[in-house]
Amino acid sequence: MLHVDRIAELRVACERARAAGQRVGVVPTMGFLHDGHRSLIRAARRDADFVVVTIFVNPLQFGADEDLDRYPRDLAGDLAQCEAEGVDCVFAPSVGEMYPRPPATNVHVADLTSDLCGAARPTHFDGVTTVVTKLFAIAGPCAAYFGRKDAQQLAVVTRMADDLNLPVEIVGCPIVREADGLAMSSRNAYLSAGDRAAAPTLFAALRAAVDAVAGGERDAASVLAIVRAVVSSEPRVTLEYAELRDAHDLTPVGTLDGSLLLAVAARVGGTRLIDNVHLRVDGADVVADLGVKRDVNDAPARA
Ligand code: AMP
Repeated sequence: MLHVDRIAELRVACERARAAGQRVGVVPTMGFLHDGHRSLIRAARRDADFVVVTIFVNPLQFGADEDLDRYPRDLAGDLAQCEAEGVDCVFAPSVGEMYPRPPATNVHVADLTSDLCGAARPTHFDGVTTVVTKLFAIAGPCAAYFGRKDAQQLAVVTRMADDLNLPVEIVGCPIVREADGLAMSSRNAYLSAGDRAAAPTLFAALRAAVDAVAGGERDAASVLAIVRAVVSSEPRVTLEYAELRDAHDLTPVGTLDGSLLLAVAARVGGTRLIDNVHLRVDGADVVADLGVKRDVNDAPARA
């Protein structure tokens, strides 16, 4: 496995792969890899010839009062996981390599970024789209793999690639969950034991809402009331938002029909967590994508 930290090295490696007729797949991450990331890597491994994992805690996507400095990092562990997954190249640049000076250029996707997580994190998505555009420009991937865990991010990046005719296929991958339903996240490492025990309430709230929709509920306000009621039963969890949106353009819906995103964000202790479920409602038919449980045969998640 190649491990590079210079832009020029990654560019050359990807150029070589493409020149050899290989399909280049990129998995952008901030590291501290877990089974959610590994599922993206596996999707890339199935689909691409030359798999690149990028590991970069991107300062541009953190607000001034956010957790940039204490964001968990473990490059040695990440490299071992990438090696085990058969990754071809890991790109782990320094901040100075990615931003030798403050960028005068940034990529902004309007509308889709203004609410949901964008309301609490007003500069976050510009940071994401700017760094993802840079990674695409450096690696020239045929495909890039993103988790549905960050559903708004996936919608934003998909729209950006479409608007700008970027020659890259954006692939969305299912949410990977712990056995108790908590969506895997590098930030789960922040949770105290008590907060960790309370955190699956978010998934329980989503599941209760899905059950109501499966039972025939089609009124968005009623579905969201169910989410709020379940979350409020757990004092350690403070809901930031619960929203039902069109899955593609993220506009609010009043009545459930078509392809929908039920998304939540909450504070558990000092930690901000997000989760969601994708719903397809067609008359009486309801298909809910609740994600997948982590593979119990895999190595235990990092403590
Ligand atoms: P991050 O390192 O948190 O920036 O995440 C890198 C990529 O992994 C993003 O596309 C995330 O959506 C994805 N990801 C993070 N957690 C999960 C999860 N539990 N299931 C699936 N994908 C995930």
